[in-house]
Parts: sequence; structure tokens; C-alpha cells
Amino acid sequence: METRIDATLVPPLGSVPLPRPQSQPTPPTGHTTSTAERGSFCLAVCTCGWSGPARRSRDLARKDAARHTTA
Ligand SMILES: [Zn+2]
Repeated sequence: METRIDATLVPPLGSVPLPRPQSQPTPPTGHTTSTAERGSFCLAVCTCGWSGPARRSRDLARKDAARHTTA
């Protein structure tokens, strides 16, 4: 008999781009998403201006971003 453990695979943090001090031109095509923190909440933002709902989990915000880029 197996014990089921609710494990979630989390992608490595190294893939998250850090904001740069210098201004960057907006890419003409495609969506580049990142996560932004608002107090104790985290939300997904995109270069197209889209932003996801505030989440308590950064992982959930990333899933919102993934859903946005694949939609
Ligand atoms: Zn977008």
C-alpha cells in the first residue's frame, strides 16, 4: 500500500528574468512574462501589458503567466 504525497514540481528559479535598470525596447512580437510582488501577494505580468490576478503563491502566478502565453 502506497502513501500518496502531494508533491508539486517547481521549475528552477534561475529561469526568472531579473528587471534591468536600463530601459529595454519592447519586443515587437511575443509575450515575455515575469512575476511581480505586491506586498504578500504575487502576480504575473507580461510585456504586452497584461497582468494576472494577485496570488498568494508565486507558483500560481507563474501558472497564470504560462496560461497567458499559451492561450
Ligand atoms: Zn502578453
